[in-house]
Amino acid sequence: MIKQSVTILGSTGSVGRSSLDLMRSTKRFELFAITANKNIHLLMKQCEEFNPSVAVVADESLADSCYKLLRESDCDTELKAGRTALEEVAADAQATVVVAAIVGSSGLDSTMAAAKSGKRVLLANKEALVMSGELFMQEALKSGSTIVPIDSEHSGIFQCLSRGIPGSSPTQFEDLDKLVLTASGGPFLNLPIKDFKSVTPEMACAHPTWKMGKKISVDSASMMNKGLELIEAHYLFGVDTRKLDAITHPQSIVHALVHFRDGSVIAQLANPDMKIPIAYGLSYPRRIETDVQRLNLSELADLQFFELDENRFPCLRLGRSAVEEGGASPILLNAANEIAVEAFLVGKIGFTKIPEIIEEVMTKIPCESPSTIAIIHELDLRARQLSNQLINKGS
Ligand code: NDP
Repeated sequence: MIKQSVTILGSTGSVGRSSLDLMRSTKRFELFAITANKNIHLLMKQCEEFNPSVAVVADESLADSCYKLLRESDCDTELKAGRTALEEVAADAQATVVVAAIVGSSGLDSTMAAAKSGKRVLLANKEALVMSGELFMQEALKSGSTIVPIDSEHSGIFQCLSRGIPGSSPTQFEDLDKLVLTASGGPFLNLPIKDFKSVTPEMACAHPTWKMGKKISVDSASMMNKGLELIEAHYLFGVDTRKLDAITHPQSIVHALVHFRDGSVIAQLANPDMKIPIAYGLSYPRRIETDVQRLNLSELADLQFFELDENRFPCLRLGRSAVEEGGASPILLNAANEIAVEAFLVGKIGFTKIPEIIEEVMTKIPCESPSTIAIIHELDLRARQLSNQLINKGS
């Protein structure tokens, strides 16, 4: 296998750290660049251990402190600062693989830059695809970039569709009946609906099966994560929304299922550990050894599957309607959700306000189709401003 040179956008986050864990244990990859927003101490620690060619701190106000830390260390990494530097490293020809693991809309421009420059993009930053959808996939097609999803459910579908059997050819679109994503149900699967009003950020961030950053943990608790994932799957796999579904599976062992028109179903199973989809993305189309605990089916007492409940989780209904409406709807949904989740995390609004704010924003801003990144940013900004107004009016 040729040694690939890798850039990790968001190396200090949960996905970024898992990617570095894999690089540490496999020693098969070179690290070209790593990036952080504010966590400069961890960024510097990562520089000392991995000695990448470049490190980027996105928050320019921290550049001086970061230069100071770098001078005190004995690594010869070049430091860059600011948002443009993120795009530069994402597109730099010295890396062939980019792990897109910045959280939220802040990752859009750098993820897009990687896709435009023909990299293999390991896509964790689902919000970037939710916002830019067809435009993103068109740019990737134009540049010859391969988008390998590392969201576990989408990695599951990707594995079922294209490379389940060594040497097999990718699945024909017309053979597909349905793509199904599983959802653990999050921490509130069995919480009485009347108690949702008193949910705290700590309760929402305590996911039963996955350890993740705060934003995606809240999204999993509200089920917005599954809504965003349905949109992500629609653009990634180019399937009609009628061919997309999600079901609850609390054990998080089966990540995705592909139903074929002859009645056959292929599922992807693994223990819930992000290192598996990341390893597949890094080594694609081959496979590499990981230290992840092996799946032992005879030790699993039970695997359950049941329908998702949209009454319990209105964010899921909003996600579905955004993917059905298309146009700007996913952008508005994503922006309003980011603002509402931030407000919930700092105690400004309650948990049940999150879907209310998103729905109001989606109804009030016209749903025109965006044709450029500049228009996407404009719509994103409008949705954020309106969300903030609604939050401040209510508080
Ligand atoms: P984290 O919050 O743990 O990490 C986010 C990363 O993005 C950090 O490196 C952070 O830097 C950086 N970042 C935050 N804000 C900015 C900004 N404004 N500009 C540049 N960089 C920024 O998130 P996760 O790792 O949990 O998630 C990352 C993405 O992967 C999300 O889109 C999520 O939906 C997706 N994902 C995550 C999974 C998981 O298991 N965690 C599973 C599947 C998908 P700093 O540390 O300096 O703040």
